[in-house]
Amino acid sequence: MKQSLMFIPTLRDIPKDAEIASHKILLKGGYIKQEVAGVYTYLPLAYRAIKKIENIIREELDQIGCSELLMPTLQTKDLWIESGRWEAYGKELMRLKDRHDREFCLGPTHEEVITSVVRDYIQSYKKLPLALYQIQTKFRDEFRPRFGLMRGREFIMKDLYTFSANEEDLDQWYMKVRGAYIRILDRLGLTYRIVNAASGAIGGKSSEEFMVLCDIGEDTIVYSDQSDFASNYELYPLEEGTLSPDGLGKICHAKGIEVGHIFKLGTKYSVPMGLNFIDVDNQKKPVIMGCYGIGVSRLLMAILEQHNENLKVLWPKSVAPFFIHILPVDKVGSIGFSMALDIEKSLQERGYEVLVDDRNESLGVKLNDADLIGCRYRIIVGRKAQEGILEVKDMKTNETKEMKMDEVCHFAF
Ligand code: ATP
Ligand code: MG
Repeated sequence: MKQSLMFIPTLRDIPKDAEIASHKILLKGGYIKQEVAGVYTYLPLAYRAIKKIENIIREELDQIGCSELLMPTLQTKDLWIESGRWEAYGKELMRLKDRHDREFCLGPTHEEVITSVVRDYIQSYKKLPLALYQIQTKFRDEFRPRFGLMRGREFIMKDLYTFSANEEDLDQWYMKVRGAYIRILDRLGLTYRIVNAASGAIGGKSSEEFMVLCDIGEDTIVYSDQSDFASNYELYPLEEGTLSPDGLGKICHAKGIEVGHIFKLGTKYSVPMGLNFIDVDNQKKPVIMGCYGIGVSRLLMAILEQHNENLKVLWPKSVAPFFIHILPVDKVGSIGFSMALDIEKSLQERGYEVLVDDRNESLGVKLNDADLIGCRYRIIVGRKAQEGILEVKDMKTNETKEMKMDEVCHFAF
């Protein structure tokens, strides 16, 4: 891909309202553009990364037997009255009316819609279980939208819902989804902890949050230095150094960003909304549900928070908008420039995602922008181009090697 053709509107100065590194990078690097508080355009660089995150999620969920659908954003008030949430959801719900004065909301989540979608279909236990998910834009009129995509008013979420005939089946789905989430976050190169989000009364593992560890996180996690015990401080306000409730180790604190949430809903929606089925014993029973969210657009920022150093980016390979960045030092018409294009062609043919900075800019400008684009490898076609030699820098190890053109074209990056 030619950089001159990519739409990467970088900024000279970092806008003042960007307080955290990932937000600064996304704005300065031309990844996103704010339209209004909490509402953003995902520009091409960001959208390439978002699509990769989405596809990793799809692969892992499809693998455990979930199927993808797409529900409407526009939801009727009637459905939300049925669930009892029209009032309960409060001011975060974006409400609107159509030309006939009929009331709607823009979906902040889809328990109501999915329940109405499947309730006409599930009459018998024979149709269970079911696991349905979507990746879609959600709307929440957050009191304080901030930190860019971290807390938007319009954001991308993956939401999955499971439908089971009994608690044991729900438990199995819960563990399968939990496993898929672990694989997703591992593939995204994140360091995280799974924390208990259910209060003691509801019991053990009925709700957990996936927290990416990061100083700017809004949540405080309490965890044991010797066991798997981890919880949200809101639920277990344990101070640092105290004994862990499981008796193993001492309590530590860390800041975290919630990127995922898995939850055993039980019959919270199936009872009020009449989602029932006839079981093997011929009894009519409410379907047992689970719901599982991942903040896709929030993930983009969480990944950046963990993969930058002083605003210099190094994307994990699984989400990098491009993997190899070629920077010719000399302008169009030079030997170096045409070499850069030849390398691009050859590496692209071998399946690598390559960006070549063909712009009429100084090397200094190109290097600054390259630090924001964050490719793993940087190929500089510079002063030794005449001799057919160029520089390959591994941005992870910081090693630079001189290579012949032919060598680069066959190198296993
Ligand atoms: P939070 O406590 O951060 O408000 P939540 O508990 O309201 O999150 P859920 O309703 O569980 O979130 O939504 C599922 C996932 O969607 C969250 O884990 C989070 O990653 C993401 N998410 C929630 N609200 C936002 C938002 N305003 N902007 C971006 N992502 C969000
Ligand atoms: Mg919230």
